[in-house]
Amino acid sequence: MGFDYDLFVIGGGSGGVRAARIAASEHGARVALAEEYRMGGTCVIRGCVPKKLMVFASGFPGSVSDAQAYGWDAQIGGFDWGVFRAKLDAELTRLENAYHRNATAAGVEIFDCRATLAGPHEVALADGRKVSARHILIATGGRPVVPQKWQGFGAMTSNEVFLMDRLPKSLLIVGGGYIASEFACIFNGLGVRTTQFYRGAQILRGFDDEARGHIADEMIANGVDLHLGTDVVEMEKRGAQIWVKATTGHDATYDAVMFATGRRPNTDGLGLEALGLELKANGAIPVDRYSQSAIPSIYAVGDVTDRANLTPVAIREGHAFADTVFGGRPTYFDHALIPTAVFTQPEFGTVGLTEEDARAHGPVNVYTAAFRPMHSLFAGRDNRAMMKLIVCRDSDKVLGCHIVADHAGEMIQLAGVAIAMGVTKADFDRTLAVHPTMAEELVTMRTATRSHSD
Ligand code: FAD
Ligand code: NDP
Repeated sequence: MGFDYDLFVIGGGSGGVRAARIAASEHGARVALAEEYRMGGTCVIRGCVPKKLMVFASGFPGSVSDAQAYGWDAQIGGFDWGVFRAKLDAELTRLENAYHRNATAAGVEIFDCRATLAGPHEVALADGRKVSARHILIATGGRPVVPQKWQGFGAMTSNEVFLMDRLPKSLLIVGGGYIASEFACIFNGLGVRTTQFYRGAQILRGFDDEARGHIADEMIANGVDLHLGTDVVEMEKRGAQIWVKATTGHDATYDAVMFATGRRPNTDGLGLEALGLELKANGAIPVDRYSQSAIPSIYAVGDVTDRANLTPVAIREGHAFADTVFGGRPTYFDHALIPTAVFTQPEFGTVGLTEEDARAHGPVNVYTAAFRPMHSLFAGRDNRAMMKLIVCRDSDKVLGCHIVADHAGEMIQLAGVAIAMGVTKADFDRTLAVHPTMAEELVTMRTATRSHSD
């Protein structure tokens, strides 16, 4: 049977675009892609990219006060959100156009509309057309969720944050994951009175406990009003503001409230259930390691599968899919060792096992360093950096590395290479320090701080 396309991709974000481009340009497939909002997807339009630009923007007051401490006659004026927002919009449009152009140049036909499934090989476009494809890739990503009972009170999510007309003077952020913690630091740095409620005992659940505690302490020292073990019990719109009462009894009025309480895969109304495909409880598409669903012609990559919701992961899954299905090279992405950074201030870079997980793995030695970095010590700041290696006592292999420090994301990228290669603690010890840097602490920790036996 002849199909209109070899591949139809639904979703023009990190995973979908990579899969479409590789299938078309490297493997000669006839490829079409539908994007209902803006090419580039979450990462480019309302995720990593605008977020990181806001991280940069929020760091300048700290840099200027450091500059003063170093002898500069420097003053910081006010932050003009309007100026930043206009530049941000222009930059995102530039990137969106580049995504469009590059995919088209690779031979991908783009439909600027929503697409749903009409059959195992059939896609329905929002304009009423139907097209067929030998393979269909679902790369529709996810969206932020606000708990049901707090919908309709005018709270924002990360989607709206980049579209604000003006910067609030006071803000409550609910949540304790990547997004809540990053935006608490961003807004605090931009001069917004920032409160963060997290329902659990410590933010960034799932990461190394010592690192989480260190980040939370630094965030509080930097001015974030962090309330742990705290959730919202009542909300009320009061004029342009929102009044919030917490489980602790604390109540206050904020110019804005942002929920960063997790994301949900975009599978609603896609037509998967009608094809007999059973979804996970949160709407994610179950796939095997080659990203194939229970319907052989339908694959899924990226956040819609809820494996590890990060841009580089979506890209690798999309690439591996294209190589497997169109390149004749069965390839899958191994999710075992994922370096990642949380762009809080201070930044957090992490790869491999946490100390808590490693204890279950077997006997380990833990090497830690907490120190006042030269740059900020001289400026009279009291902040501390933290570095930590988790080492298997039997094999000497480094099982995990956790860094809380400025530029930790940059450092963990390289530590990630070494750990992926199976680096041992002896290799770290053998490596000469680069002096004076913060990262040299990673190769100068000689005595274990703690040992755990299984
Ligand atoms: P997406 O990028 O979400 O793309 C899906 C696309 O599909 C969207 O463009 C959507 O409009 C489109 N779509 C959905 N349904 C349909 C349909 N039916 N028809 C047509 N089109 C459809 N990750 C990092 O690695 N580092 C970071 O610093 C980072 N920061 C983040 C900050 C924020 C605020 C957020 C929200 C996320 C961040 N992430 C970060 C996560 C990262 O953005 C995602 O993991 C990544 O974008 C997932 O890519 P994807 O291709 O699976 O989906
Ligand atoms: P996360 O799942 O990381 O965090 C959600 C947070 O909301 C958790 O603290 C959770 O608490 C809390 N929460 C969930 N439901 C409720 C509720 N009903 N009431 C109160 N609190 C609630 O999601 P995010 O939205 O922060 O980020 C989504 C994903 O996007 C991340 O997991 C990550 O994969 C990706 N991302 C990556 C970034 C990066 O690479 N730097 C940056 C931003 C996002 P609890 O812990 O108790 O469950």
